[in-house]
Amino acid sequence: MVLAWQYMEQKPKTAFPSLNIIDDGSSAADDSAPRVPTPGGANGARPGEGGGHSKLAIVGSGPAGLTAAIYAARANLEPLVIGGYAPGGQLMITSDVENYPGFPEGIQGPELMQKFRQQAERFGTRFVDADIDRVDLSGRPFRLWVENTEYTADSVIVATGASALWLGLENETRLRGRGVSACATCDGFFFRGRKVAVVGGGDTALEEATFLTKFASEVVLVHRRDQLRGSKIMQQRALDHPKIQVRWNSEVSDVLGDDVVSGVRLRNLVTGAETDEPMEGLFVAIGYKPNTDVFRDWLEVDDMGYLIVRGQTGSKIEGVFVAGDVHDHRYRQAVTAAADGCRAAIDAERWLEAQGIAEVATATAW
Ligand code: NAP
Repeated sequence: MVLAWQYMEQKPKTAFPSLNIIDDGSSAADDSAPRVPTPGGANGARPGEGGGHSKLAIVGSGPAGLTAAIYAARANLEPLVIGGYAPGGQLMITSDVENYPGFPEGIQGPELMQKFRQQAERFGTRFVDADIDRVDLSGRPFRLWVENTEYTADSVIVATGASALWLGLENETRLRGRGVSACATCDGFFFRGRKVAVVGGGDTALEEATFLTKFASEVVLVHRRDQLRGSKIMQQRALDHPKIQVRWNSEVSDVLGDDVVSGVRLRNLVTGAETDEPMEGLFVAIGYKPNTDVFRDWLEVDDMGYLIVRGQTGSKIEGVFVAGDVHDHRYRQAVTAAADGCRAAIDAERWLEAQGIAEVATATAW
């Protein structure tokens, strides 16, 4: 298993590598393109080096998890963050973040996450940079396994976020990283002067399509209905753009190409007619899936798989708290996830205090 930044170095280069390389659109697609720092810090442990007990284990290392870590660490809880093989969450595949307060000029997503992590480390957070395999929340202390190393914790914050959805086509999977991508901000610059398709009708698809006009010669938005779902302002921005055309009532029924994408097969959902359209890239932007698999046997999920919160940040299990996109499919913003992480950490600390595990004196030390 490799970490995200090791993966970036090891992965063989393909025509359209799907890497966490961020570009602001102003640079050429060559080795001098700017690389933004990854959020890896000095004290990220590998599983097997760690184990042991914590008062608080935080699963997830996006804005929610790392904000929870900052608050918990400042309350002397010495939290453990199990951050995943690709720590940093969705901001790691985002370029310009212009709506996170405190950065009037904007900041690159990976750089923002590096700052979150450094701040959490500064107050004594421990990190394990690997995925969690399973948990046992049947009794306290709670038990969590990472590559067969067991960790125990008096309390847990679940902040595992959500991941991009795919269409589920065989050739989409085969050509992923070879023209198929779910991240225009990561891969957009490989498509300079090329024609690309974006699937979806929500804000993600509209944002991706608009972003891709910086590079692509033409952007074809493929939507399965005759009305977009995204916000009015983003619809207008996309629909008014001279490089963007929409294929209404259409779906991508296949992705064409041997080694790299050479086209997409479009099915008109009204007439049933199929047409092959030459295309050099396909960006899938149809929403997200919450990362709840490990917790589904223990915690309640809604019909879309998002965790259900009880009270402010609690769950059906006392001592297990929830924060960020893993339950929030309404706002999904870095700043709302961060705020949620703060709330969960305060609630966890107060709960630990009530159990006599955390010192009461720390309660006002936020
Ligand atoms: P979304 O709003 O759920 O939209 C998903 C889109 O993909 C819908 O148009 C849907 O079609 C389509 N779709 C879903 N499954 C499909 C499939 N199998 N094949 C073809 N099309 C499929 O998801 P989202 O765009 O990721 O946005 C999620 C939330 O994040 C929203 O609240 C959004 O406002 C927010 N967001 C905000 C910003 C921003 O403000 N900058 C940016 C991105 C996202 P139907 O319309 O037919 O259901």
